[in-house]
Amino acid sequence: MQIANGNLPIPNHQIANPKCPVPAFIPSALLPTTKGCILAYRYKQMNPLWPEFILAFAAVIVSCGFPSDCAASEVRVGVAMVDITPPPGIPMAGYYHERGADGVLDPLYSKAMVIESGGERAALVVLDLISIRRAITDNARAAIEKTTGIKAGSVMISATHAHTGPELTDPGQVASVLPEQKRLVIDYSEGLPGRIVESVRLANERLQAAQLAVAEGRCEDLTFNRRYFMRDGSVGWNPGKRNANIVMPAGPSDTEVKLLYVERPGANGPTQSIATYVNFAMHPDTCGGNKISADWPGALSRVLGGYHGTNHATLVANGTCGNLNHVDTSWAWPQGTAIEQHRIATILGASVFQAYKHLTPLATGPIHAKSQFVELELPHTTTEEVQEAKQTLDATKDDRDGNFMKLVRANRALDIAARQGKPYRVEVQVIALGKDVAWVSLPGEIFVELGLAIKKRSPFPHTFLVELANESVGYVPDRRSYSEGNYEPESARCAAGSGEKLVEAAVTVLTELHK
Ligand SMILES: [Zn+2]
Repeated sequence: MQIANGNLPIPNHQIANPKCPVPAFIPSALLPTTKGCILAYRYKQMNPLWPEFILAFAAVIVSCGFPSDCAASEVRVGVAMVDITPPPGIPMAGYYHERGADGVLDPLYSKAMVIESGGERAALVVLDLISIRRAITDNARAAIEKTTGIKAGSVMISATHAHTGPELTDPGQVASVLPEQKRLVIDYSEGLPGRIVESVRLANERLQAAQLAVAEGRCEDLTFNRRYFMRDGSVGWNPGKRNANIVMPAGPSDTEVKLLYVERPGANGPTQSIATYVNFAMHPDTCGGNKISADWPGALSRVLGGYHGTNHATLVANGTCGNLNHVDTSWAWPQGTAIEQHRIATILGASVFQAYKHLTPLATGPIHAKSQFVELELPHTTTEEVQEAKQTLDATKDDRDGNFMKLVRANRALDIAARQGKPYRVEVQVIALGKDVAWVSLPGEIFVELGLAIKKRSPFPHTFLVELANESVGYVPDRRSYSEGNYEPESARCAAGSGEKLVEAAVTVLTELHK
């Protein structure tokens, strides 16, 4: 709205704010929010031209058009999606045997959401990939800061953990890939930071006034702890359907579906939405096969897109699902092909739609980011184990025919030996929006027990847990699970106690940002 003179039409709903003490020199009609009140008062102290400021400030107020709380117009959000589907033939990640992509079920994306609030910006990026490597994050963050001005430390890049995407590599390192396919992985990995940057650049360019809301839904009977106490006293891992030796799950699940919903100011229905950021914890390894697919996060995006339309983006951040997957061992039907993602997206989509009814408008505040770097010790390995691991890898190329755990242990021993005793230095990053919402990045496949501990201790009412973010050290079980053994603890590249260190770091940074 253009303001031609001082006769400002101030709608009634923008006037009253009982929390705002009104200084005598400012007309009360120009003070719709507590925040605006403070801003105007401070400006008066600093600048004798305050009447001009008041006019400009009022112009912002009048143009917001948001019926319930004009403070929401202080937030701007932009979203963008860039296709990162790899070329045919590329080696696929996720299993201990070679797979080359021979088709595409659905495309992979880098999805970015840029949030501007209180004069600061942050970017949340989710990738339809198995994980993200530190070198890729560092390259992308540096270029994002250069291109958009968004601080590198305010960019969180996470992977959904889709098992039907490409392998990635660090510069100069390509193991476990056939020679003729090396080039595809190198080219893809080198090109990925540029695609991530492009998604953030476009999202930043599309920043628009927005109102935000949050909701916590529940999705029961979909994500399960895949470790079980067995009758023989052991802890089983994916013990199979209707296994009579199962006693009970060896740990909890997390049925929470957390949403950040973004819509245009004054929106009154689903077609004026901008984005839904969904946080749910469950392994996306439902398809198998050799076709590229974003797995259930892609299917969920299509379900929500069918409701909101093509201008809406669904960003899925996986929660702490290191030991959670979709396999219901009490149910006889098969769950391991590409059709499974449609069943999952229907059920999870229903939970999202139900949670929409409980969306609560967000009291926004400035957006801040802070990271803490944590040292994680290596597990102990012996020279004999490393020697045996080399022999195993020379003799065994495929995890089928009962070789799975043999390959898991061999690869782990060699990875640990390659570090020559050097601990990992990993990042735990928190992005906080006001005092109500925070995102926590965690650098690997985190056990659900650890995530639940962070949620319980977080001072923020809404805490999004984003695993496989900014980098990955592989599985991070809780301390108890190391003593119980089986796949994840025996695959973990970090020592027992690492997960608890990450929890402490997360709670420390959350507490600092909530002050
Ligand atoms: Zn996994």
